[in-house]
Amino acid sequence: MTLGADHDEPVHVAVVGSGPSGFYAAEALLRSEWNTRVTMIERLPTPYGLVRSGVAPDHQTLKSVILVYDRIARSEGFHYVGNVAVGRDISISELRANFHAVILAYGAQTDRRMGIPGEDIAGSYTATEFVGWYNGHPDYRDLDFDLSSPVAVIIGQGNVAADVCRILAKPIDDLRHSDIADHALEILAESKIEEIHVVGRRGPAQAKFTAKELRELGEIPNCIAEVHPDDCALNEASAAEIADRANAGALKNMKLFREFAEHTKSSNTGSTKGLRRIRFHFRLSPKAIIGNERVERVAFFRNRLHGPAFAQIAHPTSGVEEIDCGLVFRSIGYRGASLPGVPFDEARGVIPNEAGRVIDRGAYAHGLFVTGWIKRGPQGIIGTNRADSLETVESLIADLPALTRARKPGFKGLIALIEDRDVRPVDLAEWLVIDETETARGRAKDKPREKITRVEEMLALLSQRPQRPHVKQ
Ligand code: NAP
Repeated sequence: MTLGADHDEPVHVAVVGSGPSGFYAAEALLRSEWNTRVTMIERLPTPYGLVRSGVAPDHQTLKSVILVYDRIARSEGFHYVGNVAVGRDISISELRANFHAVILAYGAQTDRRMGIPGEDIAGSYTATEFVGWYNGHPDYRDLDFDLSSPVAVIIGQGNVAADVCRILAKPIDDLRHSDIADHALEILAESKIEEIHVVGRRGPAQAKFTAKELRELGEIPNCIAEVHPDDCALNEASAAEIADRANAGALKNMKLFREFAEHTKSSNTGSTKGLRRIRFHFRLSPKAIIGNERVERVAFFRNRLHGPAFAQIAHPTSGVEEIDCGLVFRSIGYRGASLPGVPFDEARGVIPNEAGRVIDRGAYAHGLFVTGWIKRGPQGIIGTNRADSLETVESLIADLPALTRARKPGFKGLIALIEDRDVRPVDLAEWLVIDETETARGRAKDKPREKITRVEEMLALLSQRPQRPHVKQ
């Protein structure tokens, strides 16, 4: 027996994770010729992954993509199962037994480590922690950020570093009407930070900021963005990189850095009292974070760039530079985590795959697929996940004739399995109750929403409702 487009019997696919890549995979499956049912399983009660808890609160237009995901979630054949963690509440082998195919779309939740002394000293935080905290992610809600020092250092020059920098540098009134969590707003309102040093290990031509994000850092009210004019000098390979038409973003960044260098010259002569400063540094690799009980300074190796254009690597010289500071944010990229029962490439922090088909010891893992950051690594913007998920779903559809030889229970099987476990699944209607409560709370404060930041509070809100998700088929 093979099920599919010409059969009433549906094909059941589980999608693990409810961020952009999961939703784009669900959309592609539901639009396919096959009679598909998609069950999306999410660890938190709330969906949308990094769109909810990663995208910066002052970038609300980026969050409007949620409208697309909401439409997908309301489609015929879609089930949302929130507050169920795969690997804890249900295993991958149980999912594979209940669904014709499983797509892993659970992103990259941890951070790359720098592997230097003092990395975890008090006052040294990961960007992931800070971003999760100001965005009201339950895992980071109770972290304590001490912003009483006048100087902060951010290590890394990607868009996450730009987000962290902007949230630290913006006047508090510019954040009050965003969906930033109230607990973060309170602490940021008392921030004593005056200077933010944003440090890259390579040169300005290799900074990973997109020009839009970098430009914003130069447009923050009561804040001046600075670069030492000498830092804008480029070696031959870097000059070739920014001259390449395919690298227009780097050229735009260079123009912005040169403008910032002009500010720096004039700020050395004019009064900048009362302004916050963002200072970009280049060709510095972290050597150690130093302090007795908490961060007092960061030591960096001075680097020289070696290698051909587009493959330049930072090599430390014997020169060392130190920046005195009371706070450090490490923003050197996310890293995927492994899931029990699924092969994992430890070196790259991804699940090994070919066009989305998971590879286990040299062979395809029957019916197991992967998409998004846990497939390709933590790069790209939200839209990048669409093409990525289309590729994975194409592979899955091509394999369906072989995968659908037996009937599988899908969503019903999943619910039957977790019924006897200490698990409280949250369905789509229940998420909408949380959503409405958040937006109502936000309205009262002239914010798009006030997030509920504790899972227990979300579940308490739903406690009047029946505990079993509605089973539609
Ligand atoms: P990223 O863009 O990969 O930037 C990581 C930065 O850390 C780079 O400057 C990198 O330098 C540096 N780095 C890596 N390892 C290091 C080490 N051991 N020591 C010192 N520096 C090190 O990562 P991200 O900022 O976390 O962003 C992740 C993805 O999300 C990106 O694709 C980003 O564009 C996207 N994102 C987009 C937005 C937006 O569109 N608004 C917002 C946030 C994030 P090298 O270049 O030398 O490796």
